[in-house]
Amino acid sequence: MKKICRSTSFVLLLLLIPLCFLSSSTAERKYDDIISRFQEYLRINTAQPNPDYFAAAEFILSQAKSLSLEFQVLEFVKGKPLLLLKWPGSDPTLPSILLNSHTDVVPAEPLKWSHPPFSAHLDSHGRIFARGSQDMKCVGLQYLEAIRRLKASSFRPLRSIYLSFVPDEEIGGHDGAEKFTDSDIFSSLNLGIVLDEGLASTNDKYRVFYGERSPWWLVIKATGAPGHGSKLYDNSAMENLLKSIESIRRFRASQFDLVKAGFRAEGEVVSVNMAFLKAGTPSPTGFVMNLQPSEAEAGFDIRVPPAADESALERRISEEWAPFSRNMSFEFKQRVSGRDGTGKPVLTVTDLSNPWWALLEEAVEKANAKLGKPEIFPASTDARYFRQRGLPAIGFSPMANTPILLHDHNEFLDQAEYLKGIEVYESIIKAYASYVGPGGKESSKDEL
Ligand SMILES: [Zn+2]
Repeated sequence: MKKICRSTSFVLLLLLIPLCFLSSSTAERKYDDIISRFQEYLRINTAQPNPDYFAAAEFILSQAKSLSLEFQVLEFVKGKPLLLLKWPGSDPTLPSILLNSHTDVVPAEPLKWSHPPFSAHLDSHGRIFARGSQDMKCVGLQYLEAIRRLKASSFRPLRSIYLSFVPDEEIGGHDGAEKFTDSDIFSSLNLGIVLDEGLASTNDKYRVFYGERSPWWLVIKATGAPGHGSKLYDNSAMENLLKSIESIRRFRASQFDLVKAGFRAEGEVVSVNMAFLKAGTPSPTGFVMNLQPSEAEAGFDIRVPPAADESALERRISEEWAPFSRNMSFEFKQRVSGRDGTGKPVLTVTDLSNPWWALLEEAVEKANAKLGKPEIFPASTDARYFRQRGLPAIGFSPMANTPILLHDHNEFLDQAEYLKGIEVYESIIKAYASYVGPGGKESSKDEL
């Protein structure tokens, strides 16, 4: 009897060994396929100013077809396709979910990269090097991979899920997300929540964003009587401009000190950085050295948090940074307000009064991951167009323990982080798409 048992176990063991190998190699092949698809998307050169949008669109469409998603190619501006995919929910009366990502990337300087920026090289540490690996082709494809897993598990969404792959985010989104959010198609989507991009986190908690700073691109100009370079006199253009620059630098330092001392997060202060200085009288060898010029200009990239006192800042600009009493003037190359039509800061609520926030927190936790404290995004993203239309929009790119390399040389994402992000999105999409509403289907219209 004993002998028979032993031989049976032996036979079983013999049967199980190849099964184990089979299942582990199947899993490996599955992961290889996921990484290959990510690499394929990264290898499409969608760098501004000449992104190959149609190659990206073709790739996304092939993915949509393989997942049996509905799709539309929208071209609000010729040559700039925007792809809208849909996984219909079983209750079309419930507000839907939009997962947004942009297909363009910023340019790269190949000679300064350790691997070519559009090679999607996978190194021996598991890092995938490519422009767009963090910003934000990762997110666009993670959405699709999460849907692939949900479909494989026979999940059926209650709410419809839309995915938008938009052009031109890196140059302001005017021909992409802005036109999209202005369109009738957009209004017809009946959206309840939008997910958009965030930033990598250098610790184990994902960063998450509920608002963003607005760009104010300021040019100040000084004028004054020209004069001999040897003469000391008041009100020269250069002197007037330098006084302003000194004042601006003091303000910059006061804001930066708040961040350095830990009183404010980066997105909560007004940042000011000089973008250009334009002055001097050109000569064949450089500049005329014995002449004080009659005009001088400087440009500043200012980023203003939604809760900042915008009129106080404008007063500071007109009274201290470019006062007419010092022959100065100013203009904005861009001045985006962080306020809505009623003057309220444009922010997405991140407490339990916003069910989408609570669902996100819970879903991330369920996927064994952690969220950091919600932050104001330091720069601009397309999320502002969604928030301006009164929609809750959360900025989130699941990359933990990763250096922040967007727009930098050698942008990379670890493949394990990428795979983990897919699990996290699977959990979020499942929670969002299954959300009935606080009082069941009947009260769905009031839930937001
Ligand atoms: Zn981006």
